Amino acid sequence: MSTSSNLVVEKFYEQYKSAARLFYSPGRINLIGEHIDYNAGFVLPAAIDKGIWYAVAPNGTNSARFYSVDLDEHLEISLDNIHPIDGWQNYVLGVIDQAQQRGLIIKGFDCAFGGNIPIGSGLSSSAAVECGLLTALNEVFSLGLDRKTIALMGQKAEHTFPKVMCGIMDQYANMMGKMNHVILLDCLTIEHRYLPLSLEEYSIILINTKVHHSLASGEYNVRRQQCEQGLKTLQSFYPDAKTFRDITPEQVQEHESDLGGDIFKRCLYVTQEIARTQKAALLCEANNLEGLGKLMYETHEGLSKLYDVSCPELDFLVEQARKYPEIIGSRVMGGGFGGCTINLIRKEHWNTIVETITTEYKSTFDIDAEVYEVATSDGTYEAIGG
Ligand code: ADP
Ligand code: MG
Repeated sequence: MSTSSNLVVEKFYEQYKSAARLFYSPGRINLIGEHIDYNAGFVLPAAIDKGIWYAVAPNGTNSARFYSVDLDEHLEISLDNIHPIDGWQNYVLGVIDQAQQRGLIIKGFDCAFGGNIPIGSGLSSSAAVECGLLTALNEVFSLGLDRKTIALMGQKAEHTFPKVMCGIMDQYANMMGKMNHVILLDCLTIEHRYLPLSLEEYSIILINTKVHHSLASGEYNVRRQQCEQGLKTLQSFYPDAKTFRDITPEQVQEHESDLGGDIFKRCLYVTQEIARTQKAALLCEANNLEGLGKLMYETHEGLSKLYDVSCPELDFLVEQARKYPEIIGSRVMGGGFGGCTINLIRKEHWNTIVETITTEYKSTFDIDAEVYEVATSDGTYEAIGG
């Protein structure tokens, strides 16, 4: 999928015969801190140079009209009757619903959108859809929302319409991204700090397994429930612990039999990952990318063996990566069960190495993996010249 800003503007004009304002809404990577945004942990995401373009203009009616350029699908809906509709529609309608719930006035508008984030691959196309639209509406109708509020409303929209109980990381990275920086987000206080990211001789390469095991969204909600249940059990032993942040991996280990098989594994992973991410932030600040990369490999191990959200295709890519000293870090990124691995690779020869890996991948799984080199970007912004 490679819809450009020009194509979105062109399609907007073709559909609605008027000029529009243009917005860029980025996808995101996450260096480390996986499945802990909903467990009071820390994450290290960054907005990237793959995203969704939105062309939006008021239309003087009481209806919203959407055109999804990537899917070539339309939706027209009265603003007096916003309700869930399965598919991409839920991601845009959920956002309008959130605005209306807050008593904000959204008037009729036309919208065309599309971009180049691979969908459902762990780059958070959903948050880009949500926050891109809300930012556009915020500007076009002068709603007066700040960036953090938009991120929170985007998250709520995903909870209420498509009913994915996502954490705050995706929307936050989409709105708060800063070029050449990663965001150290404290998911408990929802406060952040920027850490400069100077990659120098390294590149960030994503390898897309091109598999999307259907387990993904159901299992995501199951993991959340398991963590909630595990935390309750642990709190009965440590009543002062408000969240997983107040519990150590050693304490989890002491209560293995109280927690029981799967829940024990989930809790152990979460507490280890919270500690790991704090370590990673220090390494990132000291520009010790090799140290950070080692922790990325550890995270993959935890996600695969303890949190059980990997799959043979992802494990294969990470195992291959381990063979090359040039690949200093590799792990599954995003919810899991498919999607991409994120790799920190020495710039020199990265193409050759990754090509060898994807050739091996093809001969093992008969799938053509996709490879993307990504750079960091600012959070959602209005593009000049739309
Ligand atoms: P991701 O990891 O990419 O966020 P999700 O499953 O959370 O994956 O969200 C993907 C959903 O978001 C898609 O199924 C679709 O409904 C919507 N979506 C994402 N990108 C686009 C797009 N370019 N055009 C239309 N809908 C999109
Ligand atoms: Mg998503």
